[in-house]
Amino acid sequence: MKNGEALKQLQFEMNSCSLCLESGYKITPGAIFSGVLGAKVMVIGQAPGVTEVKAKRPFNASSGRRLFKWLGLAGWDEPRFRDGQYMTAVTKCYPGKNNSGRGDRLASKEEQKLCRDYLNREIEVIAPKVIIPVGGLAIKIFYPSKLKLDEIIGTAIFHQDLRVGEIDRSADNPEMVVDSIDGGLASNGVWIVPLPHPSGASAWTNKPQNLALIEKAIALLNDLRLLLELD
Ligand code: SF4
Repeated sequence: MKNGEALKQLQFEMNSCSLCLESGYKITPGAIFSGVLGAKVMVIGQAPGVTEVKAKRPFNASSGRRLFKWLGLAGWDEPRFRDGQYMTAVTKCYPGKNNSGRGDRLASKEEQKLCRDYLNREIEVIAPKVIIPVGGLAIKIFYPSKLKLDEIIGTAIFHQDLRVGEIDRSADNPEMVVDSIDGGLASNGVWIVPLPHPSGASAWTNKPQNLALIEKAIALLNDLRLLLELD
C-alpha cells in the first residue's frame, strides 16, 4: 500500500475506533489528530481535552497556546506548523474528567496499549525526522522510566534507525542521549526532543528553576529546524 493510501486507511480506522468504549472506558470517541504526509516533525501529546474535541484539532486551547509559544521560540509559526507537520497523541480520544472533576483523567495503561498500534503506524507512515513527545505519558515511550523530568527536558535522543516495533525495548536503553545536536549525525536518523506538559496546571512547568531546561529544549529544536530545514 502506498503511504498516502496507508495514511487514509489509518485515519479512517482511528476515526471509527471504539476499542476503549468496548473495554468499558467512558471516553468520547472520535480520534483527534492533524497533519499531512510529508511532515518532518511529529508532536505526540498525551490525549486530547474537551476543547480539542469541540474544535477537532490537537492542542487547541491554553495548552496549545503555551506549546506554540515554545515552538514559536524554536522558529515555527503556528499556522505553518499546523499545516505542514503532524500532531497526534498517545491516546487519541478524550478520556473524560478525573474522579475529582477538576481535571481530565489520565488514560490507563490498558487504553494506552489499545491505542498504541495506531501511534506506531502513524510514526511508520509519516516517518518524521523529529518527534516531540509532550508530557510524561508520551515521553515514557522513548525515555528510560527511571529518569525524572529534570533529567530529560533539555536532552534529545538520536536513533540512527528507529524501528517502530522496537521503541519500547529501546526506551530503557536508548541509542544515544545527547544535550547538543551533532550536525554530522543530524540528517541520518530520527531525533526525539521532549517537552513538558504545557498545561497551566502543570506544577513542573511552572517552577522557575525548570525554565532553563525548557529553554534548552527549545534551543535543541531550533538547531534541528535549521540543520534539517524542517520548515
Ligand atoms: S483512544 Fe485510541 S484505542 Fe481508544 S477508542 Fe480512541 S482511537 Fe480507539
